Amino acid sequence: MSYTQEKQVAIEAVTRAAKLCLAVQADMVNIDSLEKGDKSPVTIADFGAQALVCQHITANFPQDAIVGEEDSSDLQKPENSDKLAQVTQYAQQVHPKATAEDVCAWIDAGNGTVSDRFWTLDPIDGTKGFLRNEQYAIALALIEDKQVKVAALVCPSLSIDGNDPGSKTGVVFTAVRGEGAAMTALGDDNFTPIHVTEPSDQERLRFVESVEAAHGDHSLQHAIAQAAGITRPSLRMDSQAKYGAVARGDAALYLRLPSPKSPNYREKIWDHAAGALIVEEAGGRVTDMHGQPLDFASDYKMQNNRGVIVSNGVIHAAVLEALAEAK
Ligand code: AMP
Ligand code: MG
Repeated sequence: MSYTQEKQVAIEAVTRAAKLCLAVQADMVNIDSLEKGDKSPVTIADFGAQALVCQHITANFPQDAIVGEEDSSDLQKPENSDKLAQVTQYAQQVHPKATAEDVCAWIDAGNGTVSDRFWTLDPIDGTKGFLRNEQYAIALALIEDKQVKVAALVCPSLSIDGNDPGSKTGVVFTAVRGEGAAMTALGDDNFTPIHVTEPSDQERLRFVESVEAAHGDHSLQHAIAQAAGITRPSLRMDSQAKYGAVARGDAALYLRLPSPKSPNYREKIWDHAAGALIVEEAGGRVTDMHGQPLDFASDYKMQNNRGVIVSNGVIHAAVLEALAEAK
């Protein structure tokens, strides 16, 4: 099965969402956020991005379910009517006739469930990074027959040249299973293949981890990286931009070990599906901390996995060994 149309639709969908996020950032010095039930922040850009992506997927693949992170219930509360009006205005930059009802319906098209074929979407992964003007991502993946088949990941604040942090920003990553991974500048469809680091590349023998201390176990991550031969300090960045960094060889490893403060937290499929395919198709390896494959097809929470290890492949066994010994 070829996924040419799915890939094109996914890239267009996340590109529209990225432009909405950039417009919100350009218009607002301080972006307001709402607090969700789990205390995490959500902004008008999260809602707007989910609306645009779901609209585009549904218009092209009306049969497909979408499992997205957000829903419109908070946005529909009377006290948030100004926010709904703002989301609608941004959506109108793509769909001039969109109403507030249309926008809520598009957002809620993302309330689907895991099935034989479905998309999973994080409209803004790393909302905290978005609010800090640091890294964030729009992450979209198609899962069919229990496997991630297509991925599109936009990192609007990531440098196009990984070796030059001062270079222009805005990167689109994409992958189709069996066809490799590629990247381009946001707004440009000149994709070039990407690959993980070479084993001999000492310069890039470094690891990435979250900015947020609560999203991992930073002291164990440091110890494991050292045990796997990485002596350089970590690069800390929000969102699935970390997968992009490993996929294009800016770093050899991404460690995400369960935080001792939230031992019952389960990773969500939309935080990993797109990034995982991109890294695997770039030649890397992705497992949980026990070496198990990530399960994207049972539930939106990855109940059977603990932690996430993403590597260039070559150092993966050493990392898993160090983890087994650390327990
Ligand atoms: P990052 O930008 O890598 O810090 O990851 C952001 C994602 O972390 C968010 O999208 C959340 O879904 C997720 N998250 C929230 N709480 C936790 C937690 N306790 N452990 C791991 N990930 C979390
Ligand atoms: Mg997320």
